[in-house]
Amino acid sequence: MPQAPATARSARISAKAERFTESVIREMNRLAMARGAVSLAQGFPDFPAPDELKQAAADAIFADVNQYAITWGAKPLRDSIAAKTARTYPGWEPDPETEITVTCGATEGMIAAMLAILDPGDEVIVFEPFYENYGPDAILTGATPRYVALEPPDWSFDPDELRAAVSPRSRAIVLNSPHNPTGKVFTRRELEQIAAVAREFDLIVFTDEIYEHLVYEGEHIPMATLPGMRERTVAVNSVSKTYSVTGWRVGWVIAPPPLTAGIRKVHDFLTVGAAAPLQAAAALALGLPAGYYDSLLAGYRERRDTLVPALEQAGFRVWQPAGAYYVMTDISGLTDLGDVAFAQRLILDPGVAAVPGSSFYAHPDLGRTKLRFAFPKQLATLRAAAERLSGIRTSA
Ligand code: PLP
Repeated sequence: MPQAPATARSARISAKAERFTESVIREMNRLAMARGAVSLAQGFPDFPAPDELKQAAADAIFADVNQYAITWGAKPLRDSIAAKTARTYPGWEPDPETEITVTCGATEGMIAAMLAILDPGDEVIVFEPFYENYGPDAILTGATPRYVALEPPDWSFDPDELRAAVSPRSRAIVLNSPHNPTGKVFTRRELEQIAAVAREFDLIVFTDEIYEHLVYEGEHIPMATLPGMRERTVAVNSVSKTYSVTGWRVGWVIAPPPLTAGIRKVHDFLTVGAAAPLQAAAALALGLPAGYYDSLLAGYRERRDTLVPALEQAGFRVWQPAGAYYVMTDISGLTDLGDVAFAQRLILDPGVAAVPGSSFYAHPDLGRTKLRFAFPKQLATLRAAAERLSGIRTSA
């Protein structure tokens, strides 16, 4: 049979895939590796995961937990998620049979939930700057994002702007607290303002709570614990950050039963399920005692308090993060270059990778003078970055 020649049509990707670019964060990380730079770009630990979790994963493989788990999550893990949620946030007791779906990380949790709940043409309100995945998530869903600004220094929003962003097509608000990239921890007052809008206009709130245990100032208040919010909150979480296992790809979504039914269907056809032996190990992780979270936080506080002054001394203007493990900085005192050119320059000389601020904005101009540094790194890595950055004021 003669083969049809490759045509422009056969080489074409979908209009949806055309509308977003490759992840800038992961690209910066690759560049950093190629150039031997110290990478404070992508948010993953360069220190080992806890031994007992690694042992539990190995044990599960040798115990032949090697076949498909139940698509919406192995029962021991769903039970463990339900128990930990109830233990950490008294009064919030998700039913593991009808309200919890285990996913391949928070990443799949968010896109599966959006695909299950939103229709093309629906609008979602997103606070800007935002974790870069929410843009492509909305595009793949066919939903239109409407942005509400978070303004420095405390990254607060104007409640009137939030209300003005609501239209007859609005279906949902996306909330991430503690927040990537700014380190903001939304206050109870702010959460109540968001909840009031959600209740008044009958909106769903998708919450990304992946940094729930990394709070240096303030407190993490899950949206689902506010009055009248459990029935309209879709809470996305994961083991990636809390247990330093970003490569395991195990996350979960807690949502009311009718929404969970939809999320489980979409999840099944997207991925079938998360890795079965790692679900077994994750069930053990979620049972770790309170002391584990205390020492996790203490370690991150020390990392933050190592990196922030080093960046200030190097000439960056720093917005001190109250949570998560990122530092957003302003570079206008250091260079006239834009964020992308300056980030590329720093990778080459002095050899430190960060993420250009524009990757967190739908309006790239708003991020032109910003860079984000990630600090889930050994103190030695952070000190090496600090040492390299200490001379940039003179050479910038
Ligand atoms: N949500 C936020 C806010 C993140 O910062 C990240 C990773 O950086 C993720 C989700 C990804 O989570 P997961 O590894 O569970 O897919």
